[in-house]
This record gives sequence, structure tokens and C-alpha cells, in this order.
Amino acid sequence: MKGGDRDRRAFEEAVGALSLVDHHVHGAFRGPLDRTKFERSITESDRALAPGVTPFDSQLGFAILRWCAPALGLSPHVSPEEYLARRTELGPEETNRRLLGSSGVSHYLVDTGFAAEELLDLRAMATLSGGQAREIVRLESVAEEVARAGPSADAFAKTFLDRLHARLEAGAVGTKSVAAYRHGFELDPARPEPGEVTRAASAWLTAIGGGQRVRLTDPTLLRFMLWSGIDARLPMQLHVGFGDSDLHLARANPLLLTDFIRQSEPSRTPILLLHCYPFHREAGYLAHIYPNVFFDVGVAVNYVGAQSKQLVAESLEVGPFGKQLYSSDAWGPAELHHLGTLLWRRAFSAVVGEWIEAGDWSLTNALRVASLVARQNAERLYAL
Ligand SMILES: [Zn+2]
Repeated sequence: MKGGDRDRRAFEEAVGALSLVDHHVHGAFRGPLDRTKFERSITESDRALAPGVTPFDSQLGFAILRWCAPALGLSPHVSPEEYLARRTELGPEETNRRLLGSSGVSHYLVDTGFAAEELLDLRAMATLSGGQAREIVRLESVAEEVARAGPSADAFAKTFLDRLHARLEAGAVGTKSVAAYRHGFELDPARPEPGEVTRAASAWLTAIGGGQRVRLTDPTLLRFMLWSGIDARLPMQLHVGFGDSDLHLARANPLLLTDFIRQSEPSRTPILLLHCYPFHREAGYLAHIYPNVFFDVGVAVNYVGAQSKQLVAESLEVGPFGKQLYSSDAWGPAELHHLGTLLWRRAFSAVVGEWIEAGDWSLTNALRVASLVARQNAERLYAL
């Protein structure tokens, strides 16, 4: 074996054995899944399927049948019917234990803000995976909880901040905003004045009229959320790019955040651009320029499946290696938690392994960068 080849293999082995911090993830489903529910959970579309189309016929579908089937004791490339029958036979708890337990994740940082009733809570995620789980608080969900309790407009801002700080002090390690979904990043970047926040809260609370179905979309209040996250001085995650059909993708381009990033730079609060596809190169640029910006290519790694090598290669262009993190953004089927780590390891090993073999990267540097992205950048930022 030549030296380059030997180093490449040593690298692949080391990446396979690294334990990861999944810095943005949701719980796995607690209960059983029928075919419809499973299929609905492996697409970001909320629309009815087009006739003759199944999400199993996709990069993600193929990756599940290739890589999750063996974790459930099946051969690779079984049919969707065989796969789902085995899942039913094992039951949700054993399926979750196998898929989460073999992922090699030491810490899940869990965004608890979306449809959490159907999902395993932090403690169950930790138990079934054999790792630890910490909370990420979704800012808009806190505001919606406050709105449901029907405060006066004058009291809204203070009640929101008190509740946010109570959640953070209870052990959360970061905040998250879904402003991309609720309005898009074409927001006035400036911190809103207290009077503006009260007026916007008044209009919102009046529109809700004491109802329980609340959804924060007001641009002034969304800016107030973002600046509250900056003021909290904990890492603030922002969903960027690819996501479900709630999103207007053109308005989820992180370059639209440039002025906000500049204005919030003096606070030194880390801004974590989540997932970013197909704007991962834009995210890499922002991370390159601004010391307060970090990014990941989570969720897309699962959806592009066998193409994830290209995605990971593109994430290793201008984005500094100390500014990238691992995430799966898995929500629902534990297949997504499992695949996130497996596909990332495969892609990272293949891409960097080639550079090692060609003599472009030393094995030592490659191992150091793998460890930065897999866990050390997250450990440093979130003080794990
Ligand atoms: Zn998410």
C-alpha cells in the first residue's frame, strides 16, 4: 500500500469512529408510522403526492433503503414494503434504539419548538441514543406562548423576555429563529424601538383576539425576536435555505442578512446559519467574512443522499474550517437522525480522503479539521 492510500484509509477509519455533536436536530417519532405517515416525513412538501410518485423514489428514499435497512437487520436495497414491514415488526422503541443508538452522536442539541407532542423529549432522546440532549429555544414559539396567555400590549415585550430568560437559565444552550419561514430575511436590520414593538404587539394581540391559534409573522416582532436572541449572548441559530413548503426559498437567501450580521457584529453573539442549501456557498462566504457567522449543511446531506459528497466538498470551499458544524436537522423518523451522521461521515471521508491521497492535505490537518466540524466547533460555541 502506498503512503497516500494508507493515510486515506486511516482517515476513513478515524472519521467513522468520531463521536458527533448534532447541533440542530428535533426529536424522533415516539409512535408507530404507517406508510403514508412515513412517506410524508421523508419529503419537505406538504402537498398531496403527484399520481404515481413516491418519496421512496428519491436520493433520500434510496439512502434509507441502502443504509438503514442493515441497521434493522435487513439486506441493503430492500423494497419499501419489506422495509416498512420490518419497522412495524420491531416496533417504534426498538427501531429508535437501533437507529439512534448506532449513530455515534454524543450530544443532540434539540429544537423543541415544532410539533413536539409526537416526538421523543430530551430525556428519551438521550436514553435511546446513549448520549446527551440539550435544548435550543425557538424564539417565535416563546412569543406565541406568551401571546396565547393574552398579556396587554404594554407588557408583551417584558413578559416575552422574562419567559425567554427563564427557559435559557433552565439549561438551554442556544436560541433559534424561523424568521425565514415567517417573513423572509428582507427585514429592516435595525433593532426596533420599544414603542414600535408595543404598537406591533398591540396589532398582533388584537388580531388574535384571545384565540389559541397564533402564528407570529409580523416583521417588527420578528426583528424583536432576532435582537432578543442577539442580546441573550448565546449562539443564535437561523434557518436558512431548503425547508418545508411554508418557506419562500428566494427570501431565505442568507445574503439578505448581511446588514443584520454587520449591525449585530459588535455583540459577538454567534449567528449559526442552518442547512443553507442551495445557498451553502453564500453561507460559506458570510462565514469567511464575518467573525460572528457560522454555518452547516444539515438536512440537505440527507436529501441529496449519494450526491452528498459534492455538497460536503462545496462546504469546504471558502468557509473557514473553524466556522462549520455538523447537524442532521432530523425531525420525525429516526432514519433521518441515523442517515445524517452516516452520510456526513461517508461524504467527508471521501472528499478529504481524496485530498490526502493526492498529497494536498496532510493526514494530521485532515484529522484536526474532521474533529473541528464533527464536534469541537460546537463544543466551543455552545460551551458543552
Ligand atoms: Zn430544524
